[in-house]
Amino acid sequence: MLAMLFDRVGEPLREATVETPRPGPGQVLLAVRACAVCRTDLHVIDGDLTRPKLPLILGHEIVGAVEAVGDGVDTSFKPGERVGVPWLGWTCGACDYCTSGRENLCDQARFTGYDLDGGYAEYAVADARYCFPIPEGYADVQAAPLLCAGLIGYRSYRMTGDAERLGIYGFGGAAHIITQVARHQGRRIFAFTKPGDVEGQDFARELGAEWAGGSDETPPEDLDAAIIFAPVGSLLPTALRCTRKGGTVVCGGIHMSEIPAFPYELLWGERAVRSVANLTRRDGEEFFRVAPQAGVRTEIQSYPLESANRALDDLRDGNVRGAAVLVIDVHP
Ligand SMILES: [Zn+2]
Ligand SMILES: [Zn+2]
Repeated sequence: MLAMLFDRVGEPLREATVETPRPGPGQVLLAVRACAVCRTDLHVIDGDLTRPKLPLILGHEIVGAVEAVGDGVDTSFKPGERVGVPWLGWTCGACDYCTSGRENLCDQARFTGYDLDGGYAEYAVADARYCFPIPEGYADVQAAPLLCAGLIGYRSYRMTGDAERLGIYGFGGAAHIITQVARHQGRRIFAFTKPGDVEGQDFARELGAEWAGGSDETPPEDLDAAIIFAPVGSLLPTALRCTRKGGTVVCGGIHMSEIPAFPYELLWGERAVRSVANLTRRDGEEFFRVAPQAGVRTEIQSYPLESANRALDDLRDGNVRGAAVLVIDVHP
């Protein structure tokens, strides 16, 4: 099969023909139809995340059709059925995180497109227990960004509690999905982009943000909570400054540049700061119920699999409106 391989930091992905994987016990083999490109993929390529399997097939927002199943797979998986594969690929199931509803924190967890080969390829295998059925009504390319931008975005959103005035820093894949969910639930959205990114601000307003501006601007009202999706540590004190007493600032990305020192006064007043790590299967089940109810639509820019490097460059340069998605049309 054709795959885009990551060999080492600093090199572009390499187009290669590799052996098509076979499904082991508990796994499904999927013909990949679409795989979204996540900022986490850039963090792997750049060496910010330091322990990838090598060589590696990136991609953890996979939509594919079941091609074959391994031994012991639940019989509800039928050939041709469409499923999604997220970042969380495997957990131990036995540690106290796993047994207390926090499998996202399992020390032995394995992640798709990092510890396990992912979806920048014509085929992928995945543990069937961690796959999600994809709601009807979403085309493959539209569904792909739901699997990380949607899911981890949703987990970040849930951590903001019942905040009415919600700030979102970094208006990319996750923000454009979560804005729609939040609007559906009656929240008011204040969107922050890179200073001067007028297009990004227009995009945010189109999706229902009541105010959009640069991250260096002060919103017209204090925020009840904020989510930071941009990997920029200096946004943390910025967001705290705009958040009222008792509010939470959630860091939704897997990597962030260093957070500068800031006066205690910004945290005082029972403000809270927290990160969100990975996802649980429960987040996925909940999100895939909520997304169609909220009428979530994803905005995508599609690329052929072979153009994965171009998709990554566009994401890095801020030239993607919504989410970048690799499309695999033909399977040999
Ligand atoms: Zn991701
Ligand atoms: Zn565990």
